[in-house]
Parts: sequence; C-alpha cells; structure tokens
Amino acid sequence: MSNSIPEKPDLNTHPNMSAEERLQVLRDHYRKLTVQNEQMKRKLKQMERDRKKMHSKMDKLKRRNDALQSPPLYIATVQEVIKDGDRSPAAIVKQHGNNQEVMTSISQKHAGELQAGDRVTVDDSYSVQSLLSGDADARAQAMQVDENPDVSYEDIGGLAEELNEVREAVERPLKSHAVFQKVGIDPPSGVLLHGPPGTGKTMLAKAVAREADVTFIRLAGSELVRKFIGEGARLVRDLFELAEEKAPAIIFIDEIDAIASKRTVSKTSGDQEVQRTLMQLLSSMDGFDDRGDIRVMAATNRYDMLDDAILRPGRFDRRVKVDLPDEEGREQIFRIHTREMELGDGVDFDALADDAEGFSGADIEHAVTEAGMCAIRAERDRVTPDDFEKAIERVKEDTDSDEDRNIRYAY
Ligand code: ATP
Repeated sequence: MSNSIPEKPDLNTHPNMSAEERLQVLRDHYRKLTVQNEQMKRKLKQMERDRKKMHSKMDKLKRRNDALQSPPLYIATVQEVIKDGDRSPAAIVKQHGNNQEVMTSISQKHAGELQAGDRVTVDDSYSVQSLLSGDADARAQAMQVDENPDVSYEDIGGLAEELNEVREAVERPLKSHAVFQKVGIDPPSGVLLHGPPGTGKTMLAKAVAREADVTFIRLAGSELVRKFIGEGARLVRDLFELAEEKAPAIIFIDEIDAIASKRTVSKTSGDQEVQRTLMQLLSSMDGFDDRGDIRVMAATNRYDMLDDAILRPGRFDRRVKVDLPDEEGREQIFRIHTREMELGDGVDFDALADDAEGFSGADIEHAVTEAGMCAIRAERDRVTPDDFEKAIERVKEDTDSDEDRNIRYAY
C-alpha cells in the first residue's frame, strides 16, 4: 500500500451551470472527499502501527546496545566490614578469580546490611554495587530450569535424521539405561549440536527432555562469561549439583563456544577465568557419577572455534550437525508454524519453501508472523499468498542486514 496523500479532487463547476447541476457537482465532490477521508484514516492507522513497531525495534536495539556498553561487574566476597566511629565505613573484599584483596569504602546503607562472607558485585574501582543474596539467586539468574518443556517432536520440521541421532544418544540412555549396562557399553557422554543460528538446536534438546519426561536445565555460556565473572567455575559445579538434585535431567549448555574456545596464550584475567570455567566443566563431565539419569547436551554456532579438549572421547563425543533446512524441511516448518493460521486460497507451501531459500527455521517463523501482520494491516482475517510473498521479502531484507547472517556465513 502506498503512503502518498491522495490528490485533491477537482471541483468542476462552470458559470453556466444550473443550480441543480452545481448541487450535483458538489455532492459528487463531497462523496469523493468522504472516500478520501476514509482512505487517509486507514493510512494513518497503518502508519501508527508501523510507528509502534519501529519503536519496539528501537527499544530492543537500545537495550542490546546498553548491555554491550555497560561494563561487567565483578563478583567478590566480603572479608570484613570495618565500622570505626565517625569514619566512613569500609569493607575488605576479595575478588573472585584473581583473589585480589582490597579495602574499599562503602555506603552507610551497605554498612548496615553487609557481613563477612557475603557475596557482592564490585565495579572496576572495587566500589560495592550490590549484595548477592545467596546461591539460589545466582543459580536462578544463570540457569533456566524447566520441568515440563513445551516443545514436542511434532513441532520440529525437517530434522528427522538429527532427531533420531539425538534420541539414540540422549533419550534411550535416559529411558532404558539397563540395556546399556547389559550390553556392557557406556552411552555417549555428551551430545554437541552444532550449526547456524535459529535451526532448532534448542528445540531438539527441549523436545527430547519432554519426550523422556525429565527436567531440562539450560545454561547460556555467554551469560556465564559476561555476567558472572569470577563465578564461572562455581556455577558449573552448581549446574551439575542441581542436575543431581533434579535427576533425571538434561543439562543443556547453549553457546558453549563462550567457555570452550580454543585456548590462547593470552594471560588476561578474563581469559584465565574462562579457562578455569572450561577446566571445571571438563572435570565435572569426567567425574560426575554416570548413573544414566543425567545427560549433557551443548550447542554452538562456532564449531570451528571449539577447544579440542571438549571434543575428546568421554566428553562431547557425539556430534550432530544441525544445518539450515533443505526445501522439504522448509516446507514442513512452514506447515508447522501456520497450523493455527486461517489461510486464504492458493497458499502453496511448496512455492513458499522455494521462495525462502537459505532461511533458517527461525527466519521462517519470523516470515509467518510477518505475513499474519500483513493480513491484519489490510484488515483481513485470512493470510493470502501475497502476504507471504511480502513477508518473505521483508525477512530477506532484515536478515541481510542482521549480524546473525554474518555468523551464518562465517559458519
Ligand atoms: P541459536 O543457535 O541461535 O540458539 P537454535 O538453533 O537453538 O538457535 P532454536 O532456539 O531452537 O534455534 O529456534 C528458534 C526458533 O525458530 C524456534 O522457537 C522455532 O520457532 C523456530 N525453529 C527453528 N528451527 C525450527 C525447526 N526445525 N522446526 C520448527 N521451528 C523451528
């Protein structure tokens, strides 16, 4: 729909016209104006919706930008709180990771609530920013625990082979560990899913957890490294402890490349910290009592960057590549995501799959939502082939300028 303002209709009166003719011209003119008024109202509504959408996109970008710009906070433990008469209160804190001890002044508010042994966040200049209220909180922030994931095998399109591999390596040991014992072999230790973003890796892990009826525990490697500086190794230990508590369970470490990239010779404290986290992960995997009721899965978009140590036998020794869907896969994914939609005549899934070449499952989901938006904008309750065509074009434009596509190409 074009956004241009309709031309003002001519008022075609003539000095020789009779009064009646003039009246007729005016009536016609009025009718045209009424139609134009309606059109403009509709356009205004549409622009208002577009404006809201742009606003929410801008907010999202702002939040992402803020997150990237805000410096990370370090975790430290309070060793001692010093309240000395009229002097402003201070505390001795020990930063996790490098064990540096410093004395820093604290606010009256913090002086009232801090005790030796408390864990706090500190900034670059060791000024105490906040009190962390115990293990449970840190765990809750870093880990997502889902006792009943809402993804089933029917929700996943085009990954039949990958799904079979994952079921064999994860679901079967969980459901019938005794079979492995009988045959005298260990089930694969860890399963690594690798492939471009948005191809359904997380879905696969969740669906297996649901099918095997076990708890799904997700930890994002990037958050671990960004938000919990100095806490990585401890959180990895917590992760395995939590899985023991919640067993049977699947541990899913997303973006594992953030903690398991090839080791560099760099000596910065950040890199050393990441390496400590990795060492903890490896030793937890080597050492955890494998009763068969905890399975470890991980996912990455950057297989090329992974440290060999993580790929050794006994660790992530079952690797499953989850690639962009082929044409048949795309068709299945379109069908899955339009299951609840009112479709107009002529929607041809084969043609949609063809148009959406190079799309990931997430791109297809995005295109389907966008097609629904087109129908709503046009005040229809059925989605037409034309809506899909526009939506696919739009997603192509969006993803071309998206950083994800760079990762995909890099992959
Ligand atoms: P990332 O690497 O970015 O974490 P991912 O591979 O884990 O991505 P998911 O989080 O599983 O991707 O998928 C994102 C969304 O894309 C899903 O919620 C789903 O709606 C859609 N999707 C992706 N792949 C598929 C698929 N094969 N079938 C159906 N939907 C899919």
